Amino acid sequence: MQTNFTLAQLADPDTADSEKILRACVHCGFCTATCPTYVLDGNELDSPRGRIYLIKEMLEHDRPATADVVVHIDRCLSCLACMTTCPSGVHYMHLVDHARVHIQDTYERPPLERLLRGMLAWLLPYPVRFRLALLAALPAKPLAPLLEAIGLKRLAAMLRLAPWRGPQRPLGPQIFPAVGARKGRVTLLAGCVNDVMAPQINAATIAVLTRHGIEVVLAEGAGCCGSLVHHMGRDDAALEQARANIDAWTALEGLDAIVINTSGCGTTVKDYGFMLRTDPAYAERAARISGLTKDISEYLAVLPLKPADGAPQLVVAYHAACSLQHGQRVNRQPKELLLKLGFKVLDVPDGHLCCGSAGVYNILQPDFARRLRERKVGTIERLRPDVIAAGNIGCITQIAAGTKLPAVHTVELIDWATGGACPPALRAS
Ligand code: SF4
Ligand code: SF4
Repeated sequence: MQTNFTLAQLADPDTADSEKILRACVHCGFCTATCPTYVLDGNELDSPRGRIYLIKEMLEHDRPATADVVVHIDRCLSCLACMTTCPSGVHYMHLVDHARVHIQDTYERPPLERLLRGMLAWLLPYPVRFRLALLAALPAKPLAPLLEAIGLKRLAAMLRLAPWRGPQRPLGPQIFPAVGARKGRVTLLAGCVNDVMAPQINAATIAVLTRHGIEVVLAEGAGCCGSLVHHMGRDDAALEQARANIDAWTALEGLDAIVINTSGCGTTVKDYGFMLRTDPAYAERAARISGLTKDISEYLAVLPLKPADGAPQLVVAYHAACSLQHGQRVNRQPKELLLKLGFKVLDVPDGHLCCGSAGVYNILQPDFARRLRERKVGTIERLRPDVIAAGNIGCITQIAAGTKLPAVHTVELIDWATGGACPPALRAS
């Protein structure tokens, strides 16, 4: 695509990078077919190609974002299916990230929208605050249908996603020693939402790693990866959270990997090198941290895992989280691990399409998110599996809110099959 940025505009590194991305797009439109929002409403402006055009016009003319542009960029899930499809290697993720920062800097949202976004940014990345909010949400949960009926859809969406049981206390910094001879040392990103809403995921991750000789360290000072605010265009807050993690992890010695079991966070941490490329104090360390980062399935794939005696042999519908399949291109490992441990694994038809979770998308865009969930749950239920597995808490929560089938993290099944505890969602079903 031809662009007309001035030299002064290109002096800004973000604009210079976006210009390269825009130039790579040949407007072929292949990406439209795999874009969930275009599949839902057929509007070119809700397709990657349409959004790329809107972003080009906004950045090239140095225009403040308009309400029309914001509507279509806000509807983007950042699922990155378009990046997997694009034959020209257009790095849509960095382009839309830049657009979101531009929107945050130049567009004044309506007061209620500002309040909601501000509250989410203040709450979700901080486990103690988030836990208190979930405790407060518990008695209000039955009101979700009523709130939806009177038009308070975002509030209703938040209540629907809150768990029915009381949230757990977040894990603090500590070391989980390897069982037997130590064969490796990793740090685990305990996460913010993950740790409070589904502590069994970290428990299974730590159990399977330590049982196979890997010491697991939770670093002092590590916290949210920054992706929740990054996707809202709040770059200063996202970079502050990234720097805190980099400081925390580089203080640890002898690490083989930074292991992440929430693929949305993994995609962001693997991008720290790019996010901090212009920060002289952090660029080199950020790139090193990104290079050390592995999804839990990537790390487990090279360990000698074996099924324990009497390992479960269930039929698993494997839902590939967008951040894992498109963001990190980790496709093989989760399914191969499950197969190797005796599960029967079914691929979900139209597996490239997002379930509608996408960070806080299911709160901010409840209608699109609900339609995507209904579509996803429908395709999964037709497979008649015993259990649904995914590698991201967002997908697990989103899908579980629309089905009676148990939905668990892939690592919970891996831990169970190698001698660990049965996942709570399967015990309850
Ligand atoms: S597939 Fe790639 S090159 Fe073609 S329109 Fe989409 S982003 Fe542009
Ligand atoms: S990231 Fe997903 S929703 Fe956004 S344009 Fe690409 S395919 Fe469409």
